Amino acid sequence: MKKQPILFLGHGSPMNVISENSWTREVSRLGASLSQPRGILMVSAHWVTRGLKIHDSASPKTIHDFRGFPAPLYDVRYPALGNHELAARVNQLLPEAELTSDWGFDHGTWGVLNFLFPQADIPVTPISLNAESTPSDFYELGRRLQVLREENILIIGSGNLVHNLHDVDFQNENSVFPWAQSFDQQVKELTEKGDLKSLLDWPQRDSATFRRAHPSFEHWAPYLVCLGAAQDFSKVEWIFEGIQNGSVSMRSAFWNP
Ligand code: ZN
Repeated sequence: MKKQPILFLGHGSPMNVISENSWTREVSRLGASLSQPRGILMVSAHWVTRGLKIHDSASPKTIHDFRGFPAPLYDVRYPALGNHELAARVNQLLPEAELTSDWGFDHGTWGVLNFLFPQADIPVTPISLNAESTPSDFYELGRRLQVLREENILIIGSGNLVHNLHDVDFQNENSVFPWAQSFDQQVKELTEKGDLKSLLDWPQRDSATFRRAHPSFEHWAPYLVCLGAAQDFSKVEWIFEGIQNGSVSMRSAFWNP
């Protein structure tokens, strides 16, 4: 059996789901090129909990975890099933985690899976981001999940490598703030250099720059999980590069087995 790749996808505004743009086309193209996994382990920026949780239900609900967007977005459903066997397997690897039927598919999850696997015929198991984890903990979590790749499970992180909603320009999808571009470029360079230390200690090393790109941590954390799961993360392929709405990086990464 072929080992599964690792994917990190920028998801950005929920509007992407009902748009057609260079990002939606690229994610759809990538999805069509992937070999079908047995299941998907999903780490989304939008499920943050106290303590680590693993979602375990037969039919996870689609959650519309945003306000003030156009009505058609609230009609979107992602009908993939859950998978108790996969949830239990993940729990073996992460025994400190708790199985729960809370939550389901938030827009960090269905916002990318709608394009990657539009038929929704692969079971999906979301795990949460533990609010008490450090950057190293997130990286270590990815390392502990690595073995799933050999079991035909696709691990997907969904966040954004720059995510500042205080400064965001929702009026203009194409605007790019120079500081956002600069942070995004540094992420690219540090990743390609394999500079784990600088990626993990960024919030302390250069907190002003980091906090501008990430006033809160949750859109960054899924990337650290992916770096841990990717083994040699410097061998990255950027399947999409670009900034949307001024302060949201849509840069998306692919690590081939
Ligand atoms: Zn988000």
